[in-house]
Amino acid sequence: MYRFWRVLPPRVKRRFLLFLGAGLPFCSVILKPGFRRIAPLMAGSGMLALDIFVPQLNLFSKSFWRASRVTQAVSLTFDDGPDPRITPGLLDLLAEHQVKASFFVLAERAKKFPEIVRRIENEGHELAFHGLDHQKIWKLSLKNFAEKTEKGLGILRSLSSQNITWYRPPHGFIRFDQYLWLRKKGLRLAGWTIGVWDTDQEVTPEEISERVLTSLRPGDILLLHDGVADRLRPQWAMLKALENTLPVLRKQGLSFLTLSSLWALNQGEPLAF
Ligand SMILES: [Zn+2]
Repeated sequence: MYRFWRVLPPRVKRRFLLFLGAGLPFCSVILKPGFRRIAPLMAGSGMLALDIFVPQLNLFSKSFWRASRVTQAVSLTFDDGPDPRITPGLLDLLAEHQVKASFFVLAERAKKFPEIVRRIENEGHELAFHGLDHQKIWKLSLKNFAEKTEKGLGILRSLSSQNITWYRPPHGFIRFDQYLWLRKKGLRLAGWTIGVWDTDQEVTPEEISERVLTSLRPGDILLLHDGVADRLRPQWAMLKALENTLPVLRKQGLSFLTLSSLWALNQGEPLAF
C-alpha cells in the first residue's frame, strides 16, 4: 500500500486527502444522526493530525523536504548536535571531501560547545535550528513553544553571525499554529526526503551505507544525526558510514549543498512534493 502511495504524483495525493477531508462531512448526510454530528469534527481533526504526523504531505504547513530532481545536488543535514565525540571528526571528513552541509543543532548543546558551533560556521556550513532541547513540541502550548523557541534562537544568535532561517522540529512533528508562529518569525520549516535510521542502537556502518547508496537520489535532503539527543550511543556508525559513502556518491556525480543553497537552486521550480 505504501509503495503504491509513494509513486502517486503529488497533486493526486494532495487532492485525494483534501477530497477525503471535505468528503467525509458531506457523506455524513447519509450516516446515522449521531455520527452525522461528529463526522465534520472527525474529518477536521483527521486532517490536522495528518498535517502534524505526515509533514511531507504539506497539507497546511509547508516544509522544504525535497528539491527538484533536475539538479545533481543533494543536501546532507545533521541533527541533534553538536557532540564533541563526533562533530569535529565529521567536520574533518566534510572538509576532506569538500562537502558543505547543514547542522540542525539543539541550542542547549550548542551553548555547551560554542567552539564547535564556530567551527561549523567558519568552515562554510550552515547553522540551522532544531529547538532548545529535544522535547516533542507538538504537545506544548503555543505560549510555551514560543518561549522555548525564542530562548533557543537567542542562544544561537549569540553564538553565530549567520542568519538562522531553517527550523526542523524535534522528532519532525509540528502543529499548524506553531508553524504559523515560525513563519511570522521569518523561519522556514525543513523536512527531509530520506532517513536511514542511523540512530538505531544496533545499526552497523555497512547497513547505513547500503541504505544511503540504494535510496539517495538527486534533489534529496538526507537526514543524519551527529548528536545523540535522548539516546546513549554516540554516532560512530554514521560517521564511519559517511566515510565509506562520500567517495562513492561523488563518483556518481552528486554535489553537496547546504539546505539554503539547495533551496535557492529550487527557486523557480514548484516546491517539490
Ligand atoms: Zn532530532
